[in-house]
Amino acid sequence: MKTALITGITGQDGPYLAEFLLSKGYRVYGLVRRLSTPNMENIKHIYDKLELVSGDLLDQGSLSDAIKNSKPDEIYNLAAQSFVKASWDQPVLTGEFTALGVTRMLEAIRTVNPKIKFYQASSSEMFGKVTETPQKETTRFHPRSPYGVAKVYGHYITVNYRESYGIFACSGILFNHESPRRGIEFVTRKITNAVARISLGKQERLELGSLEPKRDWGFSGDYVEAMWLMLQQEKPDDYVIATGENYSVKEFVEEAFRVVGIKDWEKYVIANSKKHTRPAEVDYLIGDASKARKVLGWEPKTSFKNLVKIMVEADLKREKSNE
Ligand code: NDP
Ligand code: GDP
Repeated sequence: MKTALITGITGQDGPYLAEFLLSKGYRVYGLVRRLSTPNMENIKHIYDKLELVSGDLLDQGSLSDAIKNSKPDEIYNLAAQSFVKASWDQPVLTGEFTALGVTRMLEAIRTVNPKIKFYQASSSEMFGKVTETPQKETTRFHPRSPYGVAKVYGHYITVNYRESYGIFACSGILFNHESPRRGIEFVTRKITNAVARISLGKQERLELGSLEPKRDWGFSGDYVEAMWLMLQQEKPDDYVIATGENYSVKEFVEEAFRVVGIKDWEKYVIANSKKHTRPAEVDYLIGDASKARKVLGWEPKTSFKNLVKIMVEADLKREKSNE
């Protein structure tokens, strides 16, 4: 039986990856940091099947102990300060978690057991102000936020530990992926939650920033399989994971309102709110995942329309049960 340690187990991707690995017969450990109010909402359905170990990306010793206690064959480093907008408010902390946290994890692997395979959660935000379309593994990085800059560091330190120490370390450059477990401040979940509430008469307005940016949006449940596939190859490498289609925030809004049968959506939406616009924007992302398709045999299964539907319906259900 193989053992995996997942950091970021309480976030969006962690629970989907844990479900996937459990279905493959893995023993799954999740790293959790101490919070005054534990945040177990996303893992409550698999809580009994997981083993939780405590640790924080800020604390080197805690990461080494987590590895010593769980003895994993594979580590999936999903933990990060992952919200782009917050990275301007807390640029130093974002660097500590999202950049140096990766080095701390790699140092823990190097010193405790360098045979452990490592997955780093890299991001299409590294492409930022894009120099090529669609973006692929060789596209030059031009990050546009402290988050994007921190992810570039995380990517290169992963490549560096592979080249310096021969660690089986892979960087998955994942484009935006969403689900009903997505954090509420991200635009997709913010929209689907508001649309559900508006259709139930619980909310009047949806206040957004720019409706123009385009993203390549996939489903988190599809993307975690690619993480695992990367660690099953003969050689470690880096892969772009994306759907190859992109849509604007406006198109996401339209589609979400369509699911609940509202056509005159403009009257509910306030766009270009200063509160939600960013010091520097990433206007256009679309990924070319042909390397992953060819080498890993991976492809996305969930269409844009289906993703929006899944998310709106989950929020409707949640909102109705909160009545
Ligand atoms: P989430 O924001 O949903 O989850 C982040 C996780 O990191 C949470 O479990 C959080 O724990 C944990 N965490 C944060 N800080 C620390 C810390 N100091 N020590 C230990 N754990 C910590 O992210 P996602 O699941 O959406 O994304 C997973 C990874 O993939 C992230 O690294 C993200 O940046 C990256 N990524 C995501 C994309 C997406 O579209 N979702 C696209 C590309 C990359 P807690 O519950 O305690 O806050
Ligand atoms: P990101 O791609 O990781 O930054 O994911 P987000 O979901 O936070 O943002 C996606 C896009 O939606 C970005 O271009 C944002 O500027 C845009 N956007 C527009 N309005 C909002 C909003 O109210 N909240 C968020 N989070 N993003 C918004």
